Amino acid sequence: MTNIILIAPPAAGKGTQSDLLKTRYNYAHISSGDLLREIAATDSDLGREINDKISKGILIEDELMLSLFRQKIESLGDVPGIIFDGFPRTLKQAEMLDSLVVDLGTSINYVIYIEIEKEEAMKRALGRVTCSKCGAIYNKYSDLFMKAGFCNKCEGELTSRSDDNEETFINRFNTYIEKTQPIMDYYRQKGLLYTVKACEDREDVFNEIADIIK
Ligand code: AMP
Repeated sequence: MTNIILIAPPAAGKGTQSDLLKTRYNYAHISSGDLLREIAATDSDLGREINDKISKGILIEDELMLSLFRQKIESLGDVPGIIFDGFPRTLKQAEMLDSLVVDLGTSINYVIYIEIEKEEAMKRALGRVTCSKCGAIYNKYSDLFMKAGFCNKCEGELTSRSDDNEETFINRFNTYIEKTQPIMDYYRQKGLLYTVKACEDREDVFNEIADIIK
């Protein structure tokens, strides 16, 4: 089993690269943001609390994240690998994930850091649109082939995330620097960290990742 963690600032392309990895290798993809947005859409106290934190760019508690991931992994059945997209995001989460994978009889094989400048990431966040039906991710400034407002693949309606605005982006980026960047040292010391640059062409980034994990 091949388990891969993707670490990156917001809007660097974790979701896009996860989709490409999923398609090529059949890995299961667990996106922490998608799991949380699903709960945030429910009419419940927890949903409202999570929605509030996401819209402010604040992290959700480590224990809740771990329990969501544990449940999700346990529901997967036999898969050739798992892509951890957006989790872990704190040192505590990284340590908890280490114990979880041991419990599950597996391990983390690669940690891929997608490097991007703050200005470029902000540009991408402000242009990002997601298909409400199939989840495909586009950028309204650079995906020129895109049909206005609708998904190229399934014709679903394209929507912007509520946290992809300038103010929340800055909070998310600062949270990333303060809380998530330190986990890179943690994985570097374990010899698991690889860096790729987030360039314009998503296929180029993907080919670099594919070279690392082959
Ligand atoms: P993302 O879709 O990865 O950009 O995540 C969107 C938001 O969900 C983040 O800004 C956080 O508020 C929350 N979130 C995602 N992953 C985590 C995590 N591992 N730990 C805590 N909060 C998270």
